[in-house]
Amino acid sequence: MKLQKPKGTQDILPAESAKWQYVEGFAREIFKRYNYAEVRTPIFEHYEVISRSVGDTTDIVTKEMYDFYDKGERHITLRPEGTAPVVRSYVENKLFAPEVQKPSKFYYMGPMFRYERPQAGRLRQFHQIGVECFGSSNPATDVETIAMAAHFLKAIGVQGVKLHLNTLGNPESRAAYRQALIDYLTPMKDSLSKDSKRRLEENPLRVLDSKEKEDKAAVENAPSILDYLDEESQAHFDAVRQMLKNLGVDYIIDTNMVRGLDYYNHTIFEFITEIEGNELTVCAGGRYDGLIAYFGGPETAGFGFGLGVERLLLVLEKQGVALPIENALDVYIAVLGEGANIKALELVQALRQQGFKAERDYLNRKLKAQFKSADVFAAKTLITLGESEVESGRVKVKNNQTREEIEVSLESISQNFTEVFEKLGF
Ligand code: ATP
Ligand code: MG
Repeated sequence: MKLQKPKGTQDILPAESAKWQYVEGFAREIFKRYNYAEVRTPIFEHYEVISRSVGDTTDIVTKEMYDFYDKGERHITLRPEGTAPVVRSYVENKLFAPEVQKPSKFYYMGPMFRYERPQAGRLRQFHQIGVECFGSSNPATDVETIAMAAHFLKAIGVQGVKLHLNTLGNPESRAAYRQALIDYLTPMKDSLSKDSKRRLEENPLRVLDSKEKEDKAAVENAPSILDYLDEESQAHFDAVRQMLKNLGVDYIIDTNMVRGLDYYNHTIFEFITEIEGNELTVCAGGRYDGLIAYFGGPETAGFGFGLGVERLLLVLEKQGVALPIENALDVYIAVLGEGANIKALELVQALRQQGFKAERDYLNRKLKAQFKSADVFAAKTLITLGESEVESGRVKVKNNQTREEIEVSLESISQNFTEVFEKLGF
């Protein structure tokens, strides 16, 4: 056994984690404007919370679950997605109660687990930022949630994402379409992949979602759900399209998009970008009006999306978008000689207490090496503290760019560094 990370996982090292924090912070800011609040659910759930809600015949449940029996013989799975856990929590905590404001809007961010074949933008532990909105069947909810994802993606700097839109209609429309699809696919069953032969029996809409070449060819001329919508489903979809137009959100109708989870109805969508000739879905979601009742709550509408953080970062990197990450040090203290060690400790602590980002030398190195560190940390100011400075109680604070210097007493900057910092141009 090699002491290495499991296949399909990543260590997010400091240079990278700064980007993660930026993306997460950015999402929090945007979600706040739409009146969303954070919910944090466990990373593992009872297997049944996921299996039937996501769909017993979906790839996620049949192939990708990290499930196990714990020491108490409970069937547990690491969560593969965020919606089922949030709905489970909503119902379990009775947040549907009349005194709770509706719609209720939640967001989450955190790791998800799927046993997949790892490749670019596809990991076994990956991270999602997602939102769920409960209690509004107004198509304006579909549209503002899609618009919020578009808002986030645009504001963070992603270019050229296309919004793919489809509807699955209400359960009646979906049943009618399901039959039409069976009638269409059955004569060409032999040309389907092994998985899709099974899907045709169990869950024919899933064939549309297949990534296999032969299945893609087979469904090219498949009937369209749009021809099977009843009045209610048609009206909802028309309203969504009209409102997207009102907001100036461009979209493409993609009737072969069905999404990888079974709980959706009406509106579904994906934001897709092209990376080196491959289509990559960055964000995906839709409406799931039956899910809350499925978990034992009252009939309650639901709408949400999940956004893949690794995929977002991949797209930003490939598109050359530099995130504005501020990591410069305010002060670096170069320390010269054993006799300055304690004073350096006191000073660096005093500066941090005042709110400055401060670092010092700990290793008694040559001054040249210490100045190099100040540059590496992009220190705005530099203080050199030697034994003579300790004795006189006076130091020089230098602007590390312009080289401008101000001499001050150690005592004064320990109390208040702001004045000097500002005088040096910060
Ligand atoms: P795909 O068709 O690419 O497998 P999916 O339909 O399984 O995606 P969802 O369950 O909708 O994906 O998850 C929402 C988002 O989470 C995806 O659009 C993607 O950005 C991200 N995502 C899903 N699976 C992975 C994974 N294994 N690694 C990294 N990101 C993922
Ligand atoms: Mg998948």
